Amino acid sequence: MTRQEYLRRQKEELGRKVCGVFPAQYPKEILWALGLAPAEIWDPPLASEQAAAHLQPYICSVVRQGLELLMQGQAGVCDAFLFPHTCDSIQNLASVVNDYIGLDKPCYFFYHPKAPYGPPARAYYLEQLKSLASALEPLAGPLDLAELKRRVAQGQEVARLHGQIYHRRAKGELNCSNAAFYQAVRQGEYLFPDDLIPFLEGFLAGAGGHAPRGQRVLLSGVLPNPPEILSLLDDLGVAVAADDFLACSRRYLFAPSASSDPWQALSEQYFALPPCSSKGSPIQERLDYLLASAEQSGAKGVIFYLVKFCEPELFDVPILTEELKKRGLPCLALDVEINQGLSGQMATRVEAFLEMLG
Ligand code: SF4
Repeated sequence: MTRQEYLRRQKEELGRKVCGVFPAQYPKEILWALGLAPAEIWDPPLASEQAAAHLQPYICSVVRQGLELLMQGQAGVCDAFLFPHTCDSIQNLASVVNDYIGLDKPCYFFYHPKAPYGPPARAYYLEQLKSLASALEPLAGPLDLAELKRRVAQGQEVARLHGQIYHRRAKGELNCSNAAFYQAVRQGEYLFPDDLIPFLEGFLAGAGGHAPRGQRVLLSGVLPNPPEILSLLDDLGVAVAADDFLACSRRYLFAPSASSDPWQALSEQYFALPPCSSKGSPIQERLDYLLASAEQSGAKGVIFYLVKFCEPELFDVPILTEELKKRGLPCLALDVEINQGLSGQMATRVEAFLEMLG
């Protein structure tokens, strides 16, 4: 079943409203508890036609493709849109969509705090969680606290399963291609937890075994697109041992909170997420995180998928590559545009990098 079909079924058979969510971090448990089905918009595969007229030429392709989806009328299944405050580009997109293109659907905004995190940041985040829930109530009806608690528990189960999947991959105990791995973990972008949990359990049960014995690398960046890089690594027998993708591990991997208060649990879990450029995490934290991930997973090099014009990543990556290289971890930085495939030149650079690692 495609995403569109799944989301249509959520509406037609289960009476849920669908909320299109732009990258990256948001408390999906609140949406679940309100009966809203989140449909994340990262990289819709559309030809660029109308969005460019509303955006600067130096905007990232994630924002461009997201706007394209709306301009081409392909987001009809969505009843509303949510814009987390991920970066200036998403902020600009929120203004374009909410104020200029005349989209007749409600838009909501979520402002999470940026590092460094002191006590005021934690109080602020709790406030933001509650105000998002209140803002969504006119669309979705009143929030039931018991239901929020149940959905937070489901979110923790999803995190536990993601943790196991990542752990087994890092240990070389997951027998699936790189392409299949990301196809599976990206189901979390739209599956409701009632479906996501059995899906992830099934994936874990079906992917037992051993990873191919080739080289192991760590991927970093915003999201695993263009997917042709994954296929190239598969063809070369190279296993992705760990990742530091904003769309994946930077949102999926956290230790569940023990708090019985769902608001508190959501807050603690947000502050326990891995460091991220979009949250202003100190570079040292990112460096330590990458080094530890590489060591634990046996990755011998890092490939940065740099979405062209992604400002938060562009601030960090030059320093990260330099520091990682100094510590003996070779790096390759690729400038990519989502859904634009892999040029021959890029493929050659990847192959040369892997040869050098070998
Ligand atoms: S790719 Fe970078 S600039 Fe674009 S939306 Fe994502 S974080 Fe923002």
